[in-house]
Amino acid sequence: MESQIRKIHQQLVDQKITCTTLIQEKLAALKPNSHNTVNSLLEDFALEKAKKVDEKIKNRQEIGLLEGIPFGVKDVYMLQGTFTTASSDFLKNYKAAYTATAIQKLIDAGAIPIVKENCDSFGHGSSSENTIFGAVKNAINPALVAGGSSGGSAVNVAKQFTVFSIGGDTGGSVRQPSGYNKVYGLKPTYGRVSRFGLLAYASSTDCVGPIATSIEDIRIVLNTISGIDVKDQTTYKSDIISDENISTASEIKAIGYFKNFIENNAIDSEIKADFLAAIEKIKSKGIEVKELDFFDSETLVSTYYTLVMAETASNLSRLDGTNYGNRMEGKNLKDTYSITRSENFSEETKRRIVGGNQVLSQGFSDEIYLKAINLKNEISENFERDFQEVAIILSPVTPKCPPKIGDSLKDPLAMYLSDAYTVGFSLGQLPTLTIPQGTSTGLQISAAKTNDEILLKFANFLKEVL
Ligand code: GLN
Repeated sequence: MESQIRKIHQQLVDQKITCTTLIQEKLAALKPNSHNTVNSLLEDFALEKAKKVDEKIKNRQEIGLLEGIPFGVKDVYMLQGTFTTASSDFLKNYKAAYTATAIQKLIDAGAIPIVKENCDSFGHGSSSENTIFGAVKNAINPALVAGGSSGGSAVNVAKQFTVFSIGGDTGGSVRQPSGYNKVYGLKPTYGRVSRFGLLAYASSTDCVGPIATSIEDIRIVLNTISGIDVKDQTTYKSDIISDENISTASEIKAIGYFKNFIENNAIDSEIKADFLAAIEKIKSKGIEVKELDFFDSETLVSTYYTLVMAETASNLSRLDGTNYGNRMEGKNLKDTYSITRSENFSEETKRRIVGGNQVLSQGFSDEIYLKAINLKNEISENFERDFQEVAIILSPVTPKCPPKIGDSLKDPLAMYLSDAYTVGFSLGQLPTLTIPQGTSTGLQISAAKTNDEILLKFANFLKEVL
């Protein structure tokens, strides 16, 4: 698809539409909440901003590319004065006291947030069913899950209820729902975009990621939200990615894929066949394709879940009803903590808190937590070796097609295993992009740390080739 941001920008400049009608139309499309994507609408805020954009245009003042462009925000980002619920009972009445850096940068560029989007509670899930706002429905087939945890964001983009959305990706939450709903979704290199104001799930892999219908829109948004932030010590300085730089992929001579991802009983036969057909098309363009060795799915998934459960148990320990959220009084303070946390966290979140505290506890941490840390380091070293040989690693996004709503909740272990292809790249802190081509749940393009630019180049190339 062509860039929606550029198209709408031109329509605004040419006065073919007003920003107010644009925002009104998007809000009207979101209001029926047909796919359970909406946690709250930012109607007054958005319309006030739109009025200002219209005044500027009327006065023949120049407007920036993102000015007046409506976007969605996963409901785990702080936006001052608005509900930030993490789709949880715990925070269902919580209003943010400040604004996340990435969201502020978009607002500063003139983009207009219109909706806080449904997701798995605290990012815990792969289907957007772990939410107090009702399961998000898939944009293509509403009987299926939207994917998760940024399901509401991916569906809003796919249905064009928002021009782009900002999701969050800890182990696949931008990439997997993007694949399930056939849109582009980027997990940038860890640290490229500030996490300040993103409700922490697992701080060592949490990434802010844009979802959009075109590569160009991903590029524009990524450039806007990237950069050093004194409020997030893990951020680094990155260069602007220009559109000329990503128009040709001629320097890419060799790519690779993980043999064991494909020669595996867990992969759906159609996804496997489509993936191998895509590989043949790439080879036919003169690019060498290498088969690479990687850790098996069980190791990747258990390493990831050990670490993220430990981190989320620590991060969520601040939610005890004292400073934030829905406090429930008990007989004494301890009892108050206990009731507040038992009643307000979902089953899935409690499973992760209990698991996380277990792997961090005395007598277990050396054997489990430290082992996972070592494995994470080995995974990163493996990637470093691979990227000396190939410029890109290509993989399917998921082993299977989206399940029916209701099915994944029955078997949490099966749900964890469905993350097999996404979590490794998170542990490696690599940039990874889902594109809506190649297999029925898309393809994932990954590159070496900080080389986010090459993902967009290769995505442009694949748009022509597949
Ligand atoms: N499905 C993975 C999990 O539940 C990834 C979620 C995410 O990236 N937030 O941890």
